[in-house]
Amino acid sequence: MSGSARALQPPRGMKDYLPEELAKRRRIEETIRQLFRLYAYREVETPTVEHLELVAAKVGEETRRAMYAFKDLGGRDVALRPEGTAPIARLVASKLRTAPKPLRLGYVWDFYRYDEPQFGRFRRFYQGGFELFGVSGLEGDLETLIVALDLMTRLGFKTFNVKASNVVVLRSLLAKAGVSEDGQNAVLSYADKRRYVEALEHIRSLGVPNRTVEAVSKLFELRGPDYESILQEARGLCEGCPDAIAALELLQHLLDSAKVLFPSTQLIVDLGFARGLEYYTGVIFEVFVPPLEIALIGGGRYDRLVELFGGEPTAAVGCAPGIDRLLLAMEEKGLSTPAEAASLAYLIPLKGISEDEAARVAYSLRSLDLAVEADVSRRGLKRGLAYANQRHLPFAVILGKEEMARGHAVLRNMAEATQTEASLEDLAIKLKRSQEAKATGRLEPHGGSS
Ligand code: AMP
Repeated sequence: MSGSARALQPPRGMKDYLPEELAKRRRIEETIRQLFRLYAYREVETPTVEHLELVAAKVGEETRRAMYAFKDLGGRDVALRPEGTAPIARLVASKLRTAPKPLRLGYVWDFYRYDEPQFGRFRRFYQGGFELFGVSGLEGDLETLIVALDLMTRLGFKTFNVKASNVVVLRSLLAKAGVSEDGQNAVLSYADKRRYVEALEHIRSLGVPNRTVEAVSKLFELRGPDYESILQEARGLCEGCPDAIAALELLQHLLDSAKVLFPSTQLIVDLGFARGLEYYTGVIFEVFVPPLEIALIGGGRYDRLVELFGGEPTAAVGCAPGIDRLLLAMEEKGLSTPAEAASLAYLIPLKGISEDEAARVAYSLRSLDLAVEADVSRRGLKRGLAYANQRHLPFAVILGKEEMARGHAVLRNMAEATQTEASLEDLAIKLKRSQEAKATGRLEPHGGSS
């Protein structure tokens, strides 16, 4: 590609959203915001650019390397945010330090990671976030998992899987064998990439007793939908490590509760599963739609992050739906996504109608919240109607000189090809009624499909 042709494309791994695709993305965002309302999450926003130090603190090696980090013109080290938990924890450690807990915060933001672009992996992507602070018990993990699955259901997915683990199982086994937190992070980071051989070599190199290496090696292999028997087997491997046993119990309790609400969801326990971000301190989970192998939603508990940023010790749990990936999965499953919101009427001024008159009528209709697209290029009647047809606009409002002299215009029903003359007031009432009927009519097929 020549230099100038390249400049016409967005940077590699980033997307332009044209109207149709953006309308689909907005539908997902609206559903996320609907859940903010239903679950009492209050939306916040932070800058896209953060101090490098903050966002690099606990994101894990891989994301740290993939950051868009730079010096601003004042010489400060900053970065485009690669994920949302650190900025949110920063708020809770500072401005929201004294906010009553439990505190629920929501967001819909864009993120930047210099990953190798591939299916479902972009360098700029959108995530929603549901973050709950001040709840250390199972209720917090459960609400987070439920909101994630509620979102999947509302977006119309019929089947989806959850993969879950608890990082405390591996961490406490390793800690008991004397492995430092850095050592544990290295092991979890290998596990995150499913590089179990290297993870085990690393553990051995730290002088961990064979018994523990064996147990970890078997845990890495324990995964499947029959979670009860898997957790039972895991309890056997963790004998003598009460923290690991308690972590397994908690996971079992969480999955048992989720099963009641979402009986057709496959709940997979995968004890060799770790998430890339280092800050997790408890249950972690991801949501998938087979056969796609990319995680659509990721979540987990991160009880120490707020403290790490200088705040009070604060229990925290949350999940982040990946909006671009949900969009891909919805396309893959052929889930209905609405067309762009089109106008209700096309306003056609005929010869002899001044720009001012046309603009006045359009403005008065819009002031009644009627969506009106105005012909501002003097197409004339024939081409104006052809355009309204092509755009599937339900009505045309035709402004002729004679009718306008009486304070009237012509309202044309495009689908029926019928038209009537009416006063501008009556015409507005008719349009309003039709808009309301359309809005209530639309609810039924939608409600039924989700
Ligand atoms: P994470 O912040 O890595 O826990 O990711 C949370 C969710 O965001 C994932 O489950 C994905 O759906 C989405 N996500 C993460 N990284 C990317 C990316 N590079 N491109 C698109 N979506 C992503």
